[in-house]
Amino acid sequence: MIELTEPRAHHDCQVLVIGSGAGGATTAATLAEAGIDVLIVEEGGWVEQDSVVPFSLEQMDLQYRSGGVTVALGRPSIAYTEGCCAGGGTEVNSGLYRRPSKATLERWRKNYAIDDFDDDEFYAACDEVEQALSVQTVPGRQTPASELLRRGAAALGWRHDEIPRWMTYPNGNDAAAGRRQSMTRTYLPRAVRAGARLLCEHRVDRLIIDRQRAFRAELTGPAGEPVTIDFGDVIVCAGAIHTPALLQRSGFRGLVGKALAMHPTVKLAARFNEAINVVNDVPVHQVKEFAPELSFGGSASHPGLVALALTDNWAEMRDAVTAWPNIAVYYAAITSQGRGRVTSLPGLRDPLVTYRLTRRDRDLLGQGLARLALVMLEAGAREVYPSFKGAPTVRSRSDLAQLTAGFSANAASVMTVHLCSTVPMGSDRSKAAADSFGRLFGADNVHVNDASLLPDAPGVNPQASVMAVALRNARHFIEEHS
Ligand SMILES: Cc1cc2nc3c(=O)[nH]c(=O)nc-3n(C[C@H](O)[C@H](O)[C@H](O)COP(=O)(O)OP(=O)(O)OC[C@H]3O[C@@H](n4cnc5c(N)ncnc54)[C@H](O)[C@@H]3O)c2cc1C
Repeated sequence: MIELTEPRAHHDCQVLVIGSGAGGATTAATLAEAGIDVLIVEEGGWVEQDSVVPFSLEQMDLQYRSGGVTVALGRPSIAYTEGCCAGGGTEVNSGLYRRPSKATLERWRKNYAIDDFDDDEFYAACDEVEQALSVQTVPGRQTPASELLRRGAAALGWRHDEIPRWMTYPNGNDAAAGRRQSMTRTYLPRAVRAGARLLCEHRVDRLIIDRQRAFRAELTGPAGEPVTIDFGDVIVCAGAIHTPALLQRSGFRGLVGKALAMHPTVKLAARFNEAINVVNDVPVHQVKEFAPELSFGGSASHPGLVALALTDNWAEMRDAVTAWPNIAVYYAAITSQGRGRVTSLPGLRDPLVTYRLTRRDRDLLGQGLARLALVMLEAGAREVYPSFKGAPTVRSRSDLAQLTAGFSANAASVMTVHLCSTVPMGSDRSKAAADSFGRLFGADNVHVNDASLLPDAPGVNPQASVMAVALRNARHFIEEHS
């Protein structure tokens, strides 16, 4: 464990980094290694990776915001989860690493007029991230649930691959002994070694601004005590929900929080004749035949989450849950064309989050679920339980028409773990809320450097994009301030 900064009533620093997740940790290490005096503030606590079982309910309690139960209101409402601990989402996520495509970079550059956004430079930053996080494929056998997804896709002739992860495997081919290379194991220790200070269990409530310059942060400490921090520059990396919420509480409105983007998912549980459930791991294969609009993958499947996937039809399914060792949960994810909003409301601690799926999004979710059920049948599933109210149990191809006919997005348990785009970057001020390097419009020294900056949902797991953008912008900050 690294040494944390002791709580005090007041701190000073050259650069305050708010949030220690994928964006914040990368930013803090890059700045500290360039000799800048950095203080990182994190709302959650430091939790050693090996001290909790990955994907367990205990982990949700300790490391997720609100125990993992947060929701974007809409029809349907969309449940979302965020990490709230040192390392943010990187401590609890599946570790699946995907670079954004050239087409995505081109779309971002063009639609938002991002200056000096060069593909080669961007992918060089990805190389660096991959090196730092030891991104690699599983050395031994993948989990049975992963292999089944692969088998189903292969039987249909659909494009699929194994996604590398940020993991090390100290015991050679023993995949089960893999160690997730989250921020608490990589960029945060690097930042602290280079002199950065890390203050955990402190929440930044607002920034105090004087004529376009922020100079002080007001915080709440672990025992509810008030704390202040004075700084030269502030870089907000509190994630796609809490970055815009904090900026709004500090008086910034405009386009901040107006264009939330995400990858919504629908789920199913697939039951096989043999035990296939590995409770503390997730599948590493994804099916990309219909990407980027639609992708299939595997979810965490400990018994509580299997039960959750069956609750939409609990009366019929409650017997099935006892077969959880033979059941795994899978998802169909879409690149949504809808958008949402994050709005901080006076007197409320958490912001109001809303999201509107388009008609095309709703249709795509239904098509995705039917195609995913087909993959599972091809993989040998005995029964497939789609996660929406009134869903039929699928036992053969002939049941798929009933699934498609009965599907309604409003009746489905739609959820997401990929949130972005609430402070999009670019030089087109009609769309962007921050400049091409993340400096907030309307402020001289307030920057953003996390998932909020991605102009839209990348269509792949986003952490690689978040980190590569963070590296690029942190380097630009250093150049501008040297
Ligand atoms: C369950 C799950 C699975 C996922 N799986 C994958 C995957 O396999 N691959 C992938 O690429 N991506 C995955 N993601 C997404 C990925 O984790 C995020 O895209 C990434 O972490 C976003 O980085 P960020 O810096 O924007 O925010 P975060 O990593 O969420 O960090 C934000 C940090 O800011 C802190 N914070 C918030 N408000 C305040 C405040 N007011 N004061 C102080 N601190 C504050 C939070 O506590 C948090 O630690 C997953 C996410 C989840 C939740």
